[in-house]
Amino acid sequence: MKLRQRIAGFRWYGLGVKLFLSYLAIVALVLLVLLQTTDFVAPANFAAQRGRMLRAGAGAGFGMNSENRGGPGSFVANAEALLTQAFQQSLNQSLLIAGSVALLVAVLISLFVSWQLIRPVRRLADASQRIAAGHYGERVVTGSKNHRRRDELGELAASFNEMARALEENEQRRLELVGDVAHELRTPVSTLQGYLEGLLDGVIEPDEKTWAKLYDEASRMRRLIDDLQELSRAEAHQVSFKIAPVDPLKIATVAAERLVEQFKEKGLTFTSLIPEGLPPVQADFERAVQVLTNLLTNALRYTPPSGAVRLCLRQTSKAVEFKVSDTGIGIAPEHLPHLFERFYRVDKSRSRALGGSGIGLTISRALVEGMGGHLEATSPGPGQGSTFSFTLPRAA
Ligand code: ADP
Repeated sequence: MKLRQRIAGFRWYGLGVKLFLSYLAIVALVLLVLLQTTDFVAPANFAAQRGRMLRAGAGAGFGMNSENRGGPGSFVANAEALLTQAFQQSLNQSLLIAGSVALLVAVLISLFVSWQLIRPVRRLADASQRIAAGHYGERVVTGSKNHRRRDELGELAASFNEMARALEENEQRRLELVGDVAHELRTPVSTLQGYLEGLLDGVIEPDEKTWAKLYDEASRMRRLIDDLQELSRAEAHQVSFKIAPVDPLKIATVAAERLVEQFKEKGLTFTSLIPEGLPPVQADFERAVQVLTNLLTNALRYTPPSGAVRLCLRQTSKAVEFKVSDTGIGIAPEHLPHLFERFYRVDKSRSRALGGSGIGLTISRALVEGMGGHLEATSPGPGQGSTFSFTLPRAA
């Protein structure tokens, strides 16, 4: 299996192939130089050596007419020794020349290949140091402008850039979050401060209305802090889910019971349509109830008195869908894609006045997705109501 995967993952433009080809090129060049040397240099060298030896031998007295100096047997022996010596010397010289040229070629090719490998690695190392120093906009380029490297180093650079982009986005989100939190806390803190100053100066009466207002602002801060804690856990995927088969009717009943009195108090009609025999869903019961309660709370919050809220459940091939529709203030199409962003509110002052923190839907979406479902919003437009629906996967 592993071998098959390796074969399937083989790339002719990969680093392995490049290194293999560079070694092959060195070996081929060495062979070529060797052949050229033995073809052209060695024979000439041998002839020169042989001539030199024979001349030296003649000078030493074993020439063609040297009958008095040892006879024909000793002449042949001497000539053979000289020829062997000449052959060995010319072979050694040829090998020396071939070896030197091959070494030079090998060094040049190795330097070129190393340079090709080391340069992008150095660029990556430099860029990672700059990112570590907080320059998240850093990116690396391998290859030329028009031609990106396609081998493993090119892929490494692409992954590095992807990681740098993610870090930059995270940093951006972190800064936004700090800014948003500061902004959200400023309002209740300023109100509290204003009231306390008024009380200290004796401008505001310390009556029940004032205490109730102070209590409201403190509660709003408390809610915001709780939501923020939940949001940070959800966004960091640190929420632990106790996933088990759950009856969707139970989720709907528990969530609806929490709010049914408030619907009545506000004069809203609440109806639910839950078909019998719905299959169990694979979910964390508490989290599923939390999401549905959030959607019902929003419907309660954004539907004026005498309106209606409806909860429908239905099964699809792979999931059970929970749908909350209301006849409330509705949502303009341009706001729909942003509703799940943290602190996004269509009407900031209205939502704040109604007690909203602007992160309920962000948490809900993270929870639903954590359970393998999907949450979405639709609305025909302002004043025409809205529908929020989420799915939870059916238990096997
Ligand atoms: P909030 O706590 O402000 O309600 P949410 O994240 O729950 O925050 O909702 C974000 C925004 O989506 C709200 O401020 C509101 O503008 C809009 N919204 C949510 N639910 C509804 C709804 N049922 N009808 C109209 N607008 C809604």
